[in-house]
Amino acid sequence: MQTDTQNPTPDQTFTALPLNAALQRALEVLGYTRMTPIQAQSLPPMLDGRDVIGEAPTGSGKTAAYALGLLSRIDPAQARTQALVLCPTRELADQVAREIRALARFIPNIKLTVLSGGIVKRPQLASLEHEPHIVVGMAGRVLEHLDSGALKLDALKVLVLDEADRMLGADFAAECRSIVEHAPRERQTLFFSATFADAVRGLSRQLQRKPVEIKVESDGR
Ligand code: ADP
Ligand code: MG
Repeated sequence: MQTDTQNPTPDQTFTALPLNAALQRALEVLGYTRMTPIQAQSLPPMLDGRDVIGEAPTGSGKTAAYALGLLSRIDPAQARTQALVLCPTRELADQVAREIRALARFIPNIKLTVLSGGIVKRPQLASLEHEPHIVVGMAGRVLEHLDSGALKLDALKVLVLDEADRMLGADFAAECRSIVEHAPRERQTLFFSATFADAVRGLSRQLQRKPVEIKVESDGR
């Protein structure tokens, strides 16, 4: 996306955030200088460990917002699944995995696995033998791997629902609820979406704890 990198407002630069050196370096390499409004508003509460509902238009950088939040909480020395991102489509899961990998490029030994439906399970099972730090996936397939015991979420710190209005709509809500039963109560739960239906707020009360709600209007304010 286009951002004004010529003259960034000081408090909107990523360097103002308490992000570790590996993340700051990745942002530099990617040319992300200035935070987008959803990033500027959601990162401080996320870095404080708060649950967040982030609503902002398509293309406004929601992926990097939660990716930086979750990457800040992962301990690469602990070979456990610490973050799970649920997406409604395979294409989105692949795109999200690419963005997280790009931001994690200077964190040594960090492992991410994509668990999408509609593709063979064997390589996914192999990738789960040594627990990945981060799993990005579709709810149905993630649930299958949880039920078979191949995927474990006992050490989960951060759960993200991307396109949360779809994830909590009729197609995926039941699966998301079942997945959450495998995760610790003590966790950070993040919802990001371009829009939120009222049903999402009901499920937020079940899945989140005192979430900070952020809404960025389409003019970017
Ligand atoms: P959304 O999920 O809100 O629809 P994305 O996360 O897909 O949007 O981001 C859209 C594009 O913006 C991506 O190509 C991403 O690499 C880019 N981007 C994200 N944050 C920044 C930033 N701070 N500066 C420049 N580009 C960014
Ligand atoms: Mg998105």
